[in-house]
Amino acid sequence: MTSMKLQINSPIDNVLLGHAPVTSEADYHSAVQQACAAQLIWRMVPSPQRGHLVRDFGERLRAEKKRLGELVARETGKLLAEGEGEIQEIIDICEFAVGLSRQLCGSTMQSERPMHRMYEQWHPLGVIGVITAFNFPAAVWGWNAMLALVCGNSVVWKPSEMTPITALELHKIALEICLQHGHPDLCKLVVGHRDLGEKISADKRIALVSATGSTRMGLAVAGVVAKRLGKTLLELGGNNAIIILQDADLKLVIPATLFGAVGTAGQRCTSIRRILVQRNVLDEVTKKLVAAYEKVVVGNPLQAGTLMGPLINQAAVASYHSAIASAVAQGGTVLCGAAAVSGQPSDLYVRPTLIAAQRKMAIVAQETFAPIAYIIPFDSLAEAIEINNEVPQGLSSSIFTKNMQHVEDFLSARGSDCGIANVNIGTSGAEIGGAFGGEKETGGGREAGSDSWKQYMRRQTNTINWSNALPLSQGIKFDV
Ligand code: NAD
Repeated sequence: MTSMKLQINSPIDNVLLGHAPVTSEADYHSAVQQACAAQLIWRMVPSPQRGHLVRDFGERLRAEKKRLGELVARETGKLLAEGEGEIQEIIDICEFAVGLSRQLCGSTMQSERPMHRMYEQWHPLGVIGVITAFNFPAAVWGWNAMLALVCGNSVVWKPSEMTPITALELHKIALEICLQHGHPDLCKLVVGHRDLGEKISADKRIALVSATGSTRMGLAVAGVVAKRLGKTLLELGGNNAIIILQDADLKLVIPATLFGAVGTAGQRCTSIRRILVQRNVLDEVTKKLVAAYEKVVVGNPLQAGTLMGPLINQAAVASYHSAIASAVAQGGTVLCGAAAVSGQPSDLYVRPTLIAAQRKMAIVAQETFAPIAYIIPFDSLAEAIEINNEVPQGLSSSIFTKNMQHVEDFLSARGSDCGIANVNIGTSGAEIGGAFGGEKETGGGREAGSDSWKQYMRRQTNTINWSNALPLSQGIKFDV
């Protein structure tokens, strides 16, 4: 059963942030209808002009970054800097999209027939459905929407039912900018639970469903969209490893691991979940990591000095405790953490946790969306790469070493099987310039930079005959 309004309280202190009205069936249909109609006009606006709308939206966000960043922090429990960082990501993608608006280029090919010209061009897809997860309530929509808009599409956004307040605020600004540009229906917001996401998946009017969330959700979306031969862009769960070789610079390794595993309370798709350490430095690395973990200040993420805020809700706290219990039952040893933090303004605070584990423990192949990292020993680089690749997910990975051969091996075709492979930096904190996404159960989609824009467009191959004859390809003769 869905209620008519979602009530959102901050995970930080349980203070009421607001109510978000759940979109009715009738309102959903008219939102998609209006988005369809708006797109028919928008698709014929030259893309550099479409870029002006995105530019103006980015400028508004620049002016409102502090306020919106704080709202993200309050709604998700992230640090203030992380909340502002999310808004910065949208500003960055706006800049990227504006440049892109003059570079939606296709190739020209040589025709085998005389006086023929062959080329390809890219056209908008139509309406893009964007389904987002709770942990990035702003940026993921921004990545999708800004590219979709310059590519000539309209967008229908369904944010997570856990974080719709940030969405309402962003939508208000988007609507204002769209109105100023004379295209009021380009950006639509629909609010609700997973049933609304299911509606988007099944809706033939929606050309592409870009869905970010758990692998369970991605499998459901992929099945429904495939049944109507629609397109999907899936950004799903990760289970990211960092490989620490014996020659790694520990001055970099320790802070990078801490940021990757503890940042955003381990609630990033790119969070470090497995710390693979070469056996002869295992003791030293473990000791240093435990010492760093014990210094982590858990508390109100709006206060300076805090490194980790609360989890999103009670279900997340329960899955934190149950994953730790499973790890111990499977032979793991808790090195630090594994405890709730009392005396906080909500009961969603836990200690970041390190567990000494072995690669074959079932729990290490699962994504637990909480600040738990497993330390797993290995002997050779080949073994480390095998461990990196043996989980079902394939989002992000990283290696710490000064050995160029090891670096190249890790980045080679027999190396990491992930969509992201980093050297001497952690697994999280991607820049928008690169294509973001992962393989296997992570879904295969790519968002943000590089040529990700192509997913929001359809390719058309054109052949123009400017001769006075009609030669056929492959030399076929068909004369009457
Ligand atoms: P979730 O899967 O519970 O929900 C995500 C969104 O999908 C929500 O809007 C939800 O309402 C909707 N949804 C759920 N079931 C659906 C269905 N059957 N059909 C259509 N829509 C449905 O995920 P969450 O708990 O909000 O977020 C955490 C998960 O998201 C983690 O697994 C994390 O790794 C993943 N994530 C991935 C990326 C990435 O880029 N790869 C980014 C952020 C989060």
